[in-house]
Amino acid sequence: MKVLSVLGTRPNFVKEFLVHREFQRREIKEIIVHTGQHYDYEMSRVFFNTFDLPDPHYHFEIGARSSVASTAETMLSLEDVLHKEKPNAVLSYGDVNSTTAAAIAAVKTKIPFVHVEGGIRTPFLYNPEEINRRLSDCVADLIFTCTRTDTENLCRENVPRERICFSGDLMKDALLYTLETQSIPVKRGDYVVATIHREENADNPQRLREIMHGLVQSEQIIHFPVHPRTRKRLEKFGILEEVKSCDRIRMTEPTGYLEFIRLLAGADKVVTDSGGVRREAFLLRKPVIIPVELVWFPEILEAGWKIHVPPKASEVAEAIREFEPTGPHNPEIFGNGESARKIVDNIVEHYQ
Ligand code: UDP
Repeated sequence: MKVLSVLGTRPNFVKEFLVHREFQRREIKEIIVHTGQHYDYEMSRVFFNTFDLPDPHYHFEIGARSSVASTAETMLSLEDVLHKEKPNAVLSYGDVNSTTAAAIAAVKTKIPFVHVEGGIRTPFLYNPEEINRRLSDCVADLIFTCTRTDTENLCRENVPRERICFSGDLMKDALLYTLETQSIPVKRGDYVVATIHREENADNPQRLREIMHGLVQSEQIIHFPVHPRTRKRLEKFGILEEVKSCDRIRMTEPTGYLEFIRLLAGADKVVTDSGGVRREAFLLRKPVIIPVELVWFPEILEAGWKIHVPPKASEVAEAIREFEPTGPHNPEIFGNGESARKIVDNIVEHYQ
């Protein structure tokens, strides 16, 4: 049996970590394709090193392109690889252009596509992640979900029940494994961690400026590992120097995974528009402030552990100072820590 996994971005590498180990443990052949969507050392290589992932069998080096160009180029390159490798299934994670390219290339070469982290939905059709999720789920032969809400979303869209499996969240399992193996203590510290990179925020000068002013006005110490896209936009919109001049805001390059989890585990609160960081923060019992309308994982909101605020400086600053969770902490919404095993079990059952 042979599975071809398509990876392209930082969160993909985190999700691949435990699945790759599970394939290895069972001696299942896995061909790894890196599309090159993320290519900086801090966004790619460092994750392969941390998770001991082998060098990819294929590296497309797609780089920074428009969304359409990156998806199309990846599909073209994948077509050749799929004809050559003839895998039993193609697997990809999440909601990035590499995921959509993998889904379409697989199904058009008549190879079943397996979508891990499907079923997440918002009403925002033109949100890039929404487009990628809907397209990938639509042609997937097998969809793994992080939460029961995601499963229900797929059922509402009449996806046949036998194509859906609630696996739980690989990001949760990678986090818990890392906390334990690295002996990382979790405590409410005296600083805030911020990550901002969604297109809705990073590409909109007014929103980005307001969020940055919110960080400044909160008067907290803020560790801010800056995503390459955000750094470019901060520079282009003339905001970078202003933020740098605030000595309470510690801007750095994106950190490696272990360093980031250590930082997060010791934080008081977290400000983020990331899909992954909001659930890691929740799992680490941090109050999460989200300056974007994308309510992924509504369970965290319903439990009272995150607050969505409009991208307005005063509201961001106030939420950073004031927000405290109100509800019970229920990490089991993201599964029982068996996600990699469930995913590989089901792949074997379906395609061997
Ligand atoms: N992350 C990291 N270093 C950083 C910021 C994030 O290692 O400086 C990790 C984080 O722990 C999480 C993943 O990257 O596992 C989330 O990636 P990102 O926020 O880029 O993607 P999203 O989840 O929004 O798709």
